[in-house]
Amino acid sequence: MNNATPSLLVQGYEVVIGFETHTQLTTQSKIFSRASTSFGAEPNTHASAVDFALPGALPVMNKGAVQRAIEFGLAVNAHIAESSVFARKNYFYPDLPKGYQISQFEIPVVQGGSVEFFLDGHKKTVRLVRAHLEEDAGKSLHEDFIGMSGIDLNRAGTPLLEIVTEPDMRSSAEAVAYAKELHKIVTWIGICDGNMQEGSFRCDANVSVRKPGAPLGTRREIKNLNSFKFMQQAMDFEIRWQIEQLEDGHTIQQATVLFDPETGETRSMRTKEDAADYRYFPDPDLPPLVIGREWVEKTRAEMSELPRVMAARFMADYGLSEYDAGQLTQSKAVAAYFEAVAASSQQPKLASNWVMGELSRRLNADEKSIERSVVTPAMLAGLIARIADGTVSNNAARQVFDAMWTGQGKDVDAIIDAKGLKQISDSGELEAIIDGVLAANAKNVEEVKAGNAKAFNALVGQAMKATKGKANPTQVNELLKKKLG
Ligand code: ADP
Ligand code: MG
Repeated sequence: MNNATPSLLVQGYEVVIGFETHTQLTTQSKIFSRASTSFGAEPNTHASAVDFALPGALPVMNKGAVQRAIEFGLAVNAHIAESSVFARKNYFYPDLPKGYQISQFEIPVVQGGSVEFFLDGHKKTVRLVRAHLEEDAGKSLHEDFIGMSGIDLNRAGTPLLEIVTEPDMRSSAEAVAYAKELHKIVTWIGICDGNMQEGSFRCDANVSVRKPGAPLGTRREIKNLNSFKFMQQAMDFEIRWQIEQLEDGHTIQQATVLFDPETGETRSMRTKEDAADYRYFPDPDLPPLVIGREWVEKTRAEMSELPRVMAARFMADYGLSEYDAGQLTQSKAVAAYFEAVAASSQQPKLASNWVMGELSRRLNADEKSIERSVVTPAMLAGLIARIADGTVSNNAARQVFDAMWTGQGKDVDAIIDAKGLKQISDSGELEAIIDGVLAANAKNVEEVKAGNAKAFNALVGQAMKATKGKANPTQVNELLKKKLG
């Protein structure tokens, strides 16, 4: 079965979630006009006759938007339709000057496919229904200080790929994991910049609940979730609210709701329209979108390795765990950094531990992206080589890393020398230090002999301290055991 994660009941109810995600495509110009898609310009400066819906202005398909839809379809193993159809979705709203949105309805460009990810060690597959091309609408600007509203059509005609799932998710955590995986895929293949604050990746969560085994419940759709945190909060609130309604003997009305981050609540915006309300029909201004097999195959050949494929390769080639491989393929930059370190140190396990451990801790603390890391892959590989050949202990290596991170030097060996961090490998020297520790801690020695394990650890700690962390802890352990019988 496709639902491999254990299904969690909430107060005896099963949660059912399906997602519709609007991803803004990274084309320079709009989907049906040559106006720029760049964000943040003066209102109505990035809009052409087509975007203003001037009479007689005709849409012309942007090939780059189609190219990106094909790339997405290939990334999720979907069928790319050889011929798909643009349709008019008719509704009235001030930010939609044509009175209809050009979208795809009966025959979308991308059909089927799936997104796979891991959650708490379980593999989950979410089936996709479709992904279709459409144009974004403009924006209403409410200028409260002059009591008027204006319309900005800069966003009108921005290309979107709307990605729709089957109702396959069974918890809010699963739905957030899906959204994160989808976000990773579209940014990895570069069809979307993934900027959620600017609205480049907006999710609608369709949520319903039911008793196990019952038919699907009535859903409410939470619109325009633009952060993973709000997404989780909104769904959790909605699930609790729906269960409460049903427990109180009410029924759920299909509706479109908005999440208010201030109150943490969802509230109804309008009752939901049906497809019939939109009076869809094929757009007579646009011919069917025909995509030849050669175009698809050429795209397939030119696409870079996908995150899941790369993660599987990391597991096979480097013996990494599923979790580690997933973490190291969170972005192309992280994966490239890791591969560079693993290749030049020939120590993939250590490379993985350091990239996910010390390096990402320091990057997070300094709010830096890995591309801007002061410690380059070559520097980290050099350090790892010194751990692997026994020159420095892990503890000392962290001090070397800190020195490089804080700009005290770039050369690993020079830092080790300057700070006197070379591991004590001479067992005679180490024995002498340990004898000193034993002599100075007679009480602990008595307790160890009486069978106190804590006292033994205290002696290990003392010995490490006496060597300023430069001893190999395993060696210290062994020597102490030998000496204490
Ligand atoms: P519409 O186009 O009217 O929004 P769709 O049938 O295309 O409706 O479904 C939209 C989304 O809602 C899809 O992601 C689908 O998986 C999800 N969905 C449909 N029925 C339910 C349900 N009962 N509970 C939760 N999600 C649902
Ligand atoms: Mg919908």
